Amino acid sequence: MSIAFQATLDYAKQLDKEDKISHLRQEFHIPKDKSGNEWIYMCGNSLGLQPKSTKEYINQELTDWANFGVEGHFEAKNPWMPYHEFLTDSMAKIVGAKPIEVVIMNTLTTNLHLLMVSFYQPTDKKYKIVIESDAFPSDRYAVESQIDFHGYDPKEGLIEWKPREGEELLRMEDLETILDEQGDEIALLLIGGVNYYTGQYLDIKRIAELGHAKDCMVGIDLAHGAGNISPNLHDSGVDFAAWCTYKYLNSGPGSLAGLFIHEKHAYNKDLKKFSGWWSHNKSTRFNMRQDLDIIPGAEGYQLSNPPILSMAAIKASLDMFNDVGMEALREKSEKLTGYFEFLINQIDTDRIKVITPTNPKERGCQLSVQVKNADKSLHKALTDNHIITDWREPDVIRCAPVPMYNSFEDVFRMVEKLKTLL
Ligand SMILES: *Cc1c(COP(=O)(O)O)cnc(C)c1O
Repeated sequence: MSIAFQATLDYAKQLDKEDKISHLRQEFHIPKDKSGNEWIYMCGNSLGLQPKSTKEYINQELTDWANFGVEGHFEAKNPWMPYHEFLTDSMAKIVGAKPIEVVIMNTLTTNLHLLMVSFYQPTDKKYKIVIESDAFPSDRYAVESQIDFHGYDPKEGLIEWKPREGEELLRMEDLETILDEQGDEIALLLIGGVNYYTGQYLDIKRIAELGHAKDCMVGIDLAHGAGNISPNLHDSGVDFAAWCTYKYLNSGPGSLAGLFIHEKHAYNKDLKKFSGWWSHNKSTRFNMRQDLDIIPGAEGYQLSNPPILSMAAIKASLDMFNDVGMEALREKSEKLTGYFEFLINQIDTDRIKVITPTNPKERGCQLSVQVKNADKSLHKALTDNHIITDWREPDVIRCAPVPMYNSFEDVFRMVEKLKTLL
């Protein structure tokens, strides 16, 4: 960062004054302690805060259900039949996709499985899957169970892309080496676009090029990327992606997830797929006695009619993202996280190390702070002081200052407290 930051509360407040999107904070419920002081919430990487508008959006659907019953599918203010379509354009914009490539449905791990039905077609020669060694457990279990389901041994079929000895971050050269050595046996790369543990944002376009050069399918888990970084999914050329909407997309606990399949696969009728009535051509769906006529693109992956109340919460959030735009969010995010990093580096101790990349282009908003000789009690002390971060064994505190609702003052106060607790 070329900006000369200062480590004072006045300076942090000055940055908040200059922040063009600081008004967005007021559009969220910020949890408060008993005396009415706002918590310092740095856990949007786990569960984003609730927009004040969410209640209205959900109430609208409850009201229409009360007034119209089943007729709400057509008569509701936002008719339920095409409700998911109201989310597609904004969602596609956030991840850099075309509308035909994106749909909101199911939950993340379910979507990964449905996508692997299409994009993991192992043969005895080519059956291995590459993941990051520090992949999120759900992704690992999903991949292992797919390998096993197809009759192969996960111990042989799962390849881990690991950081080098003594390092925390992944190097692209090491993925190249894996592909050079075993590419002929690898069917799929399934990689976290932003790693949940280190916060490293990988070059997904490069990963797609490397994988495709060896005839592998390439999928990206964007759980920590969607609403945080701008992944340009379409241009990256990856075959598929999936993400949840309850982290940076502020859509509520367990809310529905996103799915992307690249346009190049949209019209491929030979692609294996699991189907349900919602996969079927919308204009003839209710004729009921027809052979399956799959919708092209991402919508063809839908199985069921979706939960509208969850979609209403997603709509509330995506409308906010649509209004402000990812560009303004990213601009603030780089500065906010840059300031956070600057303050942490000012702490006079050798116990602390930020393991997230220092280059703003290789990270989103999260910093993963490694604390030597710490145990979970440090995280508990922060929480007791209403500073909400999240702890990952053995010694890492993950902190995500989110540009939509966190302030420069938040990060200043957080680091002051961390200093005292150390
Ligand atoms: C949060 C997260 C999940 C959670 O999966 P669900 O199916 O939504 O419970 C999975 N993978 C990654 C990488 C995550 O960050």
